[in-house]
This record gives sequence, C-alpha cells and structure tokens, in this order.
Amino acid sequence: MGIETITRAEPRELAALDLPRVRDDFPILFQKVHGKPLVYLDNAATSQKPRAVLEALQHFYTADCSNIHRGVHLLSERATAAYEAAREKVREFINAGESREIVFVRGTTEAINLVAYTFGRQQLQPGDEILITAMEHHSNIVPWQILCETGAKLRVAPINDAGELLLDDFEKLLTGRVKLVCVAHVSNALGTVNPVRQIIRMSHSRGIPVLVDGAQAAPHMKVDVRDLDCDFYAFSGHKVYGPTGIGALYGKAALLEAMPPFHGGGDMIRSVTFEKTLYNSIPYKFEGGTPHIAGAIGLGAAIDYVSRIGMDRIAAHEHDLLTYGTQVLARISGLRLIGTARQKAGVISFILEGIHPHDAGTILDQEGIAVRTGHHCAQPVMERFSIPATTRASFALYNTREEIDALAAGIEKVKGIFA
Ligand SMILES: *Cc1c(COP(=O)(O)O)cnc(C)c1O
Repeated sequence: MGIETITRAEPRELAALDLPRVRDDFPILFQKVHGKPLVYLDNAATSQKPRAVLEALQHFYTADCSNIHRGVHLLSERATAAYEAAREKVREFINAGESREIVFVRGTTEAINLVAYTFGRQQLQPGDEILITAMEHHSNIVPWQILCETGAKLRVAPINDAGELLLDDFEKLLTGRVKLVCVAHVSNALGTVNPVRQIIRMSHSRGIPVLVDGAQAAPHMKVDVRDLDCDFYAFSGHKVYGPTGIGALYGKAALLEAMPPFHGGGDMIRSVTFEKTLYNSIPYKFEGGTPHIAGAIGLGAAIDYVSRIGMDRIAAHEHDLLTYGTQVLARISGLRLIGTARQKAGVISFILEGIHPHDAGTILDQEGIAVRTGHHCAQPVMERFSIPATTRASFALYNTREEIDALAAGIEKVKGIFA
C-alpha cells in the first residue's frame, strides 16, 4: 500500500508536454504545403489523428472486421467487444455513471438532432420555449428551429461585446414556458467558455433540463457530466483526435429510457412482428442499423491517447498558446480580435482592417498556414459583431509557439500585399 501511494503521487506542478514527442505521434504534420512546412491551426474544424488511432482503424479492418451484436463467430465477438469497450472509454472520458448512458452517433450534429426528434417531439407543446444562446453553432440552432415548426418557440439569450453570455438576461428568459435549455460548453467561433455549471443549476432550480453542446469542450478540457449534472451532452470524435463520422450523446438513463426511438431498423429492436415491435434497451434503442464500428474503436483509441497525456496537461499547454497567441496578434496594427471573453479555450478569431478574411486565408495558405475563414457555422455570431466573417486560428495539443510566430509573420505578409 505504502509503495503504491508513492508511485501514484502526482507531481505538484504539472510537467509540460513533451512537444517534439507529441508531434511525432501525428505523421500528417510532417509535410509541406505550397513548399512551406505545414502549420495546422484549423483544429476547431477537425483535429489531426495520432498514430494510435490510425493503427486502431487498420487493426480493426485487417484483423477483426465483422458486424457486431449479431454473429456467434469469433470475429464478431471481437468486434462487439472492441465496440463496447470503446463505449466504456467514452463513459469514463466524460465521467458518466453508466455506459448505457452513452449513445454512439455520427457526431454532435446527429446527437442534437436525436434529442430534438425524440425528446423534443415528445415533450414540447405549442407555446413552449427552447432557450439557446447567441453564440451557438448552427447545429445547436437549426434542429430546434425545425422542432419549432410544431408550434414551440426559440428564445435566444444575448452576449456582450466580449462574446460572453449575459447571465442576468439568460435568467430573465428562464420563464415557466421554457422546457429545454441548449447551450455550447465552448463557442467554436469565439472561444468563450460558458459557465455551464451555473447555467445548469439555474435551469434545474426551475425544473428545466439542459443539453450541452460539448463539441469544442471535449478536446480541450476535462469534462465531467456528473459534476455538471447536465441532462444531455454531445461531442464529436473527429475534434478529439478520433475519426470522422463518430461521436457520442450522453443522456441521463431515466431520460433516455423515456424517449421514443430515433432511427428504426436492425439492432434497435427486441422483437418485430407486423403487429407490434418491442424496442431494445438503451443505448441500443438509439443505434438502429450497423454503426460506425471502426469509428467507435478509433474514438476509443483517441480517448486512450489523450487520457495518457492528461486533459489537464493538454488544457495547460493550449492555455499557454492562447495567451501567447493573443499577445502576439494583439500587437499587429489593424487586427481586431473577435471574442475576448475572460474564460476562453484555444480559439483566436480576428479580422484585419480592409482585408476580407477569405483573402487573408488564401494568402496564409500559400505560407503553409491552415486557418479557417468564414462564419464558422455561426452566422448569428457574425451578425452580433456586424462582420461577415472572421479568420480563425484554433489550437490543439501539438501546436507550438513557433507556429504562432509563423501565423503572425503570415499576417504581416497579408497586410503587405493589401497595403
Ligand atoms: C463542430 C461543432 C459542431 C458540429 O459538430 P459536427 O462534428 O460537425 O457534427 C457543433 N457545435 C460546435 C460548438 C462545434 O464546434
């Protein structure tokens, strides 16, 4: 026992990331783009995949490929075991109580649609309200608008000029008519980290359930759904260094059990006759059809990878990049930061005076620098700041200060061309 205590003791100071070693895990980073070393700063759109994920995908397709929950043969048993082991990894990753509270979906978009089409259709009556914020991604707006075609109303809590939610206004909008609150944990366009714990407490005190869009939180910080006490939590595998086409919806078991199914088909049933179909238990009730088996296994490998490094260590590194990047970019004349919340994750959105973001992005690409330009699937955010678009640099665990210097030099080049 004594020995275990010693070996398990955490160092008081978080040791820094071994960046060269981390970068070595991502083979895609070592290439040239237009003759320049790739500087990949578009991680909020999707992040790159470590070798461990590539190998997990390759292993599944070369050794275990088979359908799940069906065959009695060995390959199917191995595939099923790996798929269910991945569910358990997701459970642990977000600290859900039970693995049956984890539904595999294509990504955040599908997770939110699942809730809208099942829980939403079942629970919302004409005149009821859904409350969101002004910084939501389209995938946390449009499914609710579609749901509102049945007579419910969408309400939007405003944000200030820094891109922070105005909590007093939010609370005023939490009337008896609100039946669901849907909020981003972290804004993809502004980087704002929302006080979701407080939002959830305010909502629960009025008996209102809360869905959290965790697409930009899961890659950057430790998520604990039980500590948050959220009712639903959605995230995408591809932003957490996993494959595209896989993600997870967490829902409290009692809620998932009471919800009608989403997609009818194979695997989501217990028995089918033409007279009556009995649905499977959760989470299978929501996983009709052959799922993205390899994707789930790849996501499990990605979770293993980030967990080995430690989400706290990743968050600390990205915070350093955010602080450094904000300082470096703020010094550039004619550059205006969009999104200056006190609590931010590794996203820097900006505009350059007199230069369209698309032109800036094109020139940065010529320098090997990958950034996102546009409205970032958050057009209402652009409207709030009266701009058509921004250029966005977003960070991952493998980014370096040198890459931020390269971005700053690239921006000076952009300015030079348009001067
Ligand atoms: C990326 C993103 C989504 C949508 O995720 P998909 O993987 O495209 O389904 C939703 N919300 C936020 C905040 C995002 O960043």
